[in-house]
Amino acid sequence: MADYDFDLFVIGAGSGGVRAARVSAGYGAKVAIAEEYRVGGTCVIRGCVPKKLLVYGAHFAEDLHDAKRFGWEVETPTFNWATLRDNVLADVDRLNKAYTETLDNNKVTTFLERATIAGPHEVKLASGKTVTAKVILIATGGWPVIPDFPGAEHGVTSNEVFHLDSLPKRVVIAGGGYIANEFAGIFHSLGSSVTLVNRSDTILRGYDEQIRDRLLQISMTKGIQYRFNCHFESIEKKEDGSLLASFCDHDPVEADLVLFAIGRRPNVEGLGLDQVGITITPHGAIPVDAHNKTNVDSIYAVGDVTDRVQLTPVAIREGHAFADTLFGDNPRTVDYDTIPSAVFSQPPLAGVGLTEAQARNKLGSIKVYSSDFRPMKNVLAGRNERSLYKMIVDATSDRVVGLHMIGPDAPEILQAAAIAVKAGLTKADFDATVALHPSMAEELVLMK
Ligand code: NDP
Repeated sequence: MADYDFDLFVIGAGSGGVRAARVSAGYGAKVAIAEEYRVGGTCVIRGCVPKKLLVYGAHFAEDLHDAKRFGWEVETPTFNWATLRDNVLADVDRLNKAYTETLDNNKVTTFLERATIAGPHEVKLASGKTVTAKVILIATGGWPVIPDFPGAEHGVTSNEVFHLDSLPKRVVIAGGGYIANEFAGIFHSLGSSVTLVNRSDTILRGYDEQIRDRLLQISMTKGIQYRFNCHFESIEKKEDGSLLASFCDHDPVEADLVLFAIGRRPNVEGLGLDQVGITITPHGAIPVDAHNKTNVDSIYAVGDVTDRVQLTPVAIREGHAFADTLFGDNPRTVDYDTIPSAVFSQPPLAGVGLTEAQARNKLGSIKVYSSDFRPMKNVLAGRNERSLYKMIVDATSDRVVGLHMIGPDAPEILQAAAIAVKAGLTKADFDATVALHPSMAEELVLMK
């Protein structure tokens, strides 16, 4: 140790990096972390957290509308974007401070500047200072993909969307994945006219087909517009500041905002990987083994920069396993099997385990149970929006191998049910549980 400034130098103070730094320091390691933007990373600063708060904010539109049917006289409500934006950004500030304090309390040295790799044990800071460490952990996360066509510079990504000066009247969203569907729901609920444009003929590839179809059907009924098999040709900025998005084989769309949500790439640009002979994958990710080690013995990587599963809780687990393994005398790896996930669309959807199509391919003989129902709150509200729950069961063992849901609070309900799926429980185990009535979740133990 005497030869190095630190035991561990972490590049990137996001979900994975902060967890790794904090836990390693807790084991007694001398730790430093560098962050070029803000401590907290994508999830806290410009991802999951502010997004979820916008989803809550947007959902009041439906709640205020439905309130009348429950006897509430609400004068015509008005919405103030600046109030929501500023309150959300203030909460981001609070969390940024809390994360910074956590690092300080654990005696982690924080460098608020860009760091690049200069050697197997050497990191160069933007200020010019060189720091040495026995181990380097790369946790630089991902970065939104920006397409390459004339006028693409007029679009924004999820990096900028939380800071808009005003609520755009017309929004074009490129992509059909997580961010596209979540922001389509947010902007539509807040009153913007939304057109979602995807290169393929589907949304949310990877989720169960019937669940995706249900979201599409509900969203179309609400008025969100879709363009499928649609490729951008250009974006033109008009004199009045508005935008004209043009496509191959589709009519152009006028917009006030174009949001690119076409995936995120590992953030490795200019990181100095070539200095140490780390070769990235064709997707731009840093290859690592099960213990998060790169091909250089002293350099590790966790989180989105490794492009294994681009989810915050996974990065956190990887960071924690890294710290336990290297500094806690407890070598362990992350279990990537049966990871639940959700899309905070309106309504939200969530899933865990195999989709129906995946289960058919993998297991051959399966049973599919479902419940297609209108939540009682929607019935009284006169809201013609149905929920759909699907349970995929291995016909041979009766084991539940997949659970997929769309409807109010689906992510909250699925997180609890995912424990049962992860534990390998059977359909009979679900059925043996008495329903909690009246709830939406009771459908899980009543499925036919
Ligand atoms: P996604 O990977 O979810 O979706 C990308 C979308 O863009 C797909 O519809 C895809 O089309 C399309 N696409 C991909 N490449 C191109 C391209 N070159 N040109 C045009 N279209 C393209 O990406 P997001 O940006 O929405 O989100 C990034 C990641 O962030 C997600 O993968 C997820 O892991 C994470 N995230 C998670 C959230 C959550 O957990 N709730 C919320 C937000 C983000 P196709 O239909 O062909 O696949």
